[in-house]
Amino acid sequence: MSANAFKRLMEASKKIGENSPSSKRTKNNVAKEGSSKDTTKKHYWKSGLIQAITDVENIVESSNTLVIIKDKYPKAKFHYLVIPKVVQLNSARELTRSHINLLKEMQEKAEVLVKNYHPKTKFKIGFHAKPSMDHLHLHVVSTDFVSTFLKTKKHWNSFNTEHFLDLPELISKLEEKGNLDCYYPTDKDIELYLKKALKCNQCSFEAKTMPSLKEHLNTHAQSSSKMYVEEK
Ligand code: AMP
Ligand code: ZN
Repeated sequence: MSANAFKRLMEASKKIGENSPSSKRTKNNVAKEGSSKDTTKKHYWKSGLIQAITDVENIVESSNTLVIIKDKYPKAKFHYLVIPKVVQLNSARELTRSHINLLKEMQEKAEVLVKNYHPKTKFKIGFHAKPSMDHLHLHVVSTDFVSTFLKTKKHWNSFNTEHFLDLPELISKLEEKGNLDCYYPTDKDIELYLKKALKCNQCSFEAKTMPSLKEHLNTHAQSSSKMYVEEK
């Protein structure tokens, strides 16, 4: 898609955004992620990232090709999204060899961001196999997963099972095969990944419930904050 076409898309999304849940900041809809049940509203909701990257206040960094924003509902202490400006794909499933340079640029920008702002923090960089939001977005998320927005098993498993597609691995598959056809999880696989047991990403602990996993993750975060001087 050309830069002009993208501009038109963003202008259109601004109009959509006038009615979207995120633009009408009433008491009931602020910070309620994915709360719209109605399908029309769901469509507006799904296009929210295009709206988000038009708002300068959200932008952490921007280049001709990419925008980096803070995730509005961070699932960890630090959570960013790297969003390409001129590629209109809705998920990593559609990526081909032709996107490798763009993906490498996204990876480099993500790594520089981490190195500059969070040099002592571990991050995961990758895509959700089945994203909830439209418009390709790369997650750059710290591995503490300490956040009030991390609420459900689906949230946890979307980042901590094969549902999370690590970027370097995805790039090597594209280099090898040219597309992700024989690598990509099926919808059935994805359903199973999202229902997996709640396994800690830092030790062998398996939690029975989300509150107990969150409590457990806090203990890891507390012991690592004793080891490092706190970052901004
Ligand atoms: P995914 O499940 O891969 O589609 O992830 C979408 C991400 O976008 C989630 O981590 C949400 O918290 C985040 N998100 C949703 N709406 C917005 C928004 N308006 N601005 C920034 N991030 C958002
Ligand atoms: Zn653990």
